[in-house]
Amino acid sequence: MTELDGRVAIVTGASRGIGRETAILLAAQGAHVVLTARKQAELDDVVAKIQAAGGAASAVPGDASSPTDVTRVVEHARAVPGRLDILVNNAGVGILGPLAAMSVEDFDTQMAINVRSVFLYTRALIPILEKLGGGNIVNVASISGLAGFAGASAYSATKWATVGLSRGLDKELSPKGIKVTAVCPAGVDTTWAFNTGIDPAEVANVERLKPQTVAESIAFAINQPANARLTELVVYPMSENGHQ
Ligand code: NAP
Repeated sequence: MTELDGRVAIVTGASRGIGRETAILLAAQGAHVVLTARKQAELDDVVAKIQAAGGAASAVPGDASSPTDVTRVVEHARAVPGRLDILVNNAGVGILGPLAAMSVEDFDTQMAINVRSVFLYTRALIPILEKLGGGNIVNVASISGLAGFAGASAYSATKWATVGLSRGLDKELSPKGIKVTAVCPAGVDTTWAFNTGIDPAEVANVERLKPQTVAESIAFAINQPANARLTELVVYPMSENGHQ
């Protein structure tokens, strides 16, 4: 018997990076994890790794900003035996650079993938969690959701929106037993924003968090005792000063 036996979790953006490690960790803790992202092949690789380790997982490809795709993923998860009461809103993109040079499309893409997706998945899960009398929603925001950084203003706006949504939802949903957590990591060692603002060579020698460390924070929030909730977790590597 492990911590999350009998529970079903949806993890968005689960094909690589933080989402991948979160899916692997939650499955190791006993949850059946429903992984979603746009690319089927990458999802299948993670599912195979989880199953090879004795865990339970399934993949449903989809765009987290699309209402019809979100409905499809949630319907799949509802059909999995167990208690669907964990949602990790992790899918996200960063298109960095000076705001004056940003296209309308790039601004809208970030808002859609980083914010609209959180709205869509959370809205779909709330009635399910209310019926169960509780559950966990973890939103992967960023320190960019608590501070501002030159060259990341539009991205930062999406993450402030995620933190704002999380804080409001905590007030709305905690009386119903539903715990909402915003996890705000500093730089993480993934390929996030590579080719859309981050030059891999520039971060090669910078200390960044391991995606597994962020996954541990997410799991820590989910595994709180019944009478406690973590509303915000800010995670820095030791070498970095805080920005708040
Ligand atoms: P990553 O390695 O680039 O992974 C992003 C994941 O999101 C992938 O699985 C990707 O898969 C998925 N995704 C992207 N667009 C999607 C869409 N429209 N629909 C569904 N899935 C989509 O990034 P990461 O570093 O793990 O970042 C995960 C989250 O942490 C993001 O919200 C990011 O903003 C946040 N964050 C990252 C850092 C950092 O320094 N890396 C720091 C703080 C916060 P597909 O491309 O196949 O869809």
